[in-house]
Amino acid sequence: MTTTTDTHCPYCSLQCGMRLRTGPEVGAAGAEVLERPGFPVNRGALCGKGRSAPALLARDVRLTGPLLRDRPGGPLRSAGWPEALDRVAEGLAGVRERHGADAVGVFGGGGLTNEKAYQLGKFARVVLRTANIDYNGRFCMSSAAAAHRRAFGLDRGLPFPLEDIPHTDCLILVGANPAETMPPALRYFRELRENGGTLIVVDPRRTRTAAEADLHLQPRPGGDLALALGLLHLVIADGLVDEEFVAARTTGFDRARAAAMAHWPDRVERLTGVPVARLREAAALFGRAATGMVLTARGPEQQSKGTDTVGAWIDLCLATGKAGRPRSGYGCLTGQGNGQGGREHGQKADQLPGYRSIEDPAARAHVAGVWGVDPETLPGAGRSAYELLDGLGQPGGVRALLLAGSNPVVSAPNAGHVAGRLRALDLLVVADPVLSETARLADVVLPVTQWAEEDGTTTNLEGRVILRRRALDPPEGVRSELWVLRELAARLGVVDGFPAEAEPVFDELRRASAGGDADYAGISYRRIAAEDGVFWPCPDTAHPGTPRLFLDRFATPDGRARFAGVTHRPAAEEPDRDYPLYLTTGRVLAQYQSGAQTRRVPELNAAAPGPFVELHPRLAARLAVGEGELVSVTSRRGRAVAPARVTDTIRPDTVFMPFHWPGAGRANTLTNPALDPVSRMPEFKLCAVRVERAEGEAS
Ligand code: SF4
Repeated sequence: MTTTTDTHCPYCSLQCGMRLRTGPEVGAAGAEVLERPGFPVNRGALCGKGRSAPALLARDVRLTGPLLRDRPGGPLRSAGWPEALDRVAEGLAGVRERHGADAVGVFGGGGLTNEKAYQLGKFARVVLRTANIDYNGRFCMSSAAAAHRRAFGLDRGLPFPLEDIPHTDCLILVGANPAETMPPALRYFRELRENGGTLIVVDPRRTRTAAEADLHLQPRPGGDLALALGLLHLVIADGLVDEEFVAARTTGFDRARAAAMAHWPDRVERLTGVPVARLREAAALFGRAATGMVLTARGPEQQSKGTDTVGAWIDLCLATGKAGRPRSGYGCLTGQGNGQGGREHGQKADQLPGYRSIEDPAARAHVAGVWGVDPETLPGAGRSAYELLDGLGQPGGVRALLLAGSNPVVSAPNAGHVAGRLRALDLLVVADPVLSETARLADVVLPVTQWAEEDGTTTNLEGRVILRRRALDPPEGVRSELWVLRELAARLGVVDGFPAEAEPVFDELRRASAGGDADYAGISYRRIAAEDGVFWPCPDTAHPGTPRLFLDRFATPDGRARFAGVTHRPAAEEPDRDYPLYLTTGRVLAQYQSGAQTRRVPELNAAAPGPFVELHPRLAARLAVGEGELVSVTSRRGRAVAPARVTDTIRPDTVFMPFHWPGAGRANTLTNPALDPVSRMPEFKLCAVRVERAEGEAS
């Protein structure tokens, strides 16, 4: 029988609504994507990734039973679930006994549903009693999250729904390329321009998004902090500060003004490469607009100064009165499918559900009460993602790791080093629908369900909690992570509190989040389905949810937003004589994150078959490199080889590599794990490299 189910795309943070038609006669994978025009975020539009997502369900691209390795270096072999789970439980318990609870680690992902993220955090703290749990969202949104909390007292990616974007007067998009990362969202920016608004794009590359802008500022990588300060300088100098707003709703402007005044236009041109005339144009457009928004993405955020860079852009919004008002504000375009919810419910090293701090006694007492444990037994904050990976198998580090929804062998910075650390573990357990590059290193691989095969909620970039629905059955040998956690908890002596179904977990999550910043108490599966999602905070069932934050007051103790007042500083690694160029990395339209899913979809692979190195014609001429010829890119951490793609859309001092592929062309072999001191975000977005012809080498 054929059925249709309203659900959502498995990939990015837009979480586009889609309708799945399923049944035995519906294609090889048993599912087909139809439009779901009534869902407000994408109104039926999908990109190629979403349209082709059913290919992920086919048996020949995914795991259909557990795999075990009998000895280090030996092959993976098929196993039954009881044997695999016994091996995991015995391994985790053995490491805990020999080396202590913190020698067992958990590494989650920003694509996991809220229920899985919540349950993973609870499993780590209640069953394993380890402090060491973190997730790959640390590599994604953590700098924006830290800056958001510092300025506004609360972190939600967008403090307004996407539907507000077309109605602002001037929008600055910083280090974001939605034309490739989330194409259906481009409509909002186009509507803005059709309504007479101005779009300014800040990006070292003239991306497809930049090509749609009224003004494109093309700073050198790492220049966006100085650029924001330069714009603030000009806004102040031109008398465009909203003095009334600053006095009534903010604190700390004097410090921000002093910092900005040290970034005069000529200096900022030297620091960024953006001509003074362009700076003046941008400052006037934004400063004189009645309403305005700044949206950042990974460009400014994935830096060792990411929190301060975002802080400087927020300062520009605050100084011009463009925050906490209708049609104005700062926001972050989150990346992963549940990038927002994944950081709210406890899989982050320093957090408990509801976006609570694990160091806060009241928060610990509340969550411990919901979990039925003594607050004293909850561990404290653990290591951040890169620090956790860097310490694997080292004295004092994690020796047994349970990893779900992540593929750090491709996606972590300094990935060659991280792969070595994973190999040094006593036990690596990977739960994944596919045999990812990281799963290939595991001692035990647990095949788990994916989006169309399970119920669960995610929270999109707007803070809208949405519901994915189970549309078809998984293959017989596949189980959900929730079931796996229940089985492991029981083997480790905890028989209650780990249901295998999603809705009871969500109902517990609601209670655990009640009263926290990310309060889901009033959100239910029934409401989400009836209302096309519910925006948090939503403290009770009669509450309508909160699409727009901060309109009356900011979430700080005094209700005022706080200026960051930061100054420019160089990246952790700037080009020099040995490594004279910048490398920046990012995504392409047809692939997603580490490519573990999209590299298994034939039509996406046909559109984007492999890595490349984008370089300017002048640089290519200097290196005597032609289109398609192999080049090597070398940083202090390693070397990658990929074909050249020669284009004048990139700065001559910069090369670009997409990061979706393993092997010789792996971009993250090169990237710098230098961390932001506040967010612990690695500096993915820039490092210093040397580029040479790579004659005679295989890609
Ligand atoms: S934009 Fe994102 S959520 Fe929408 S279809 Fe594409 S990958 Fe899926």
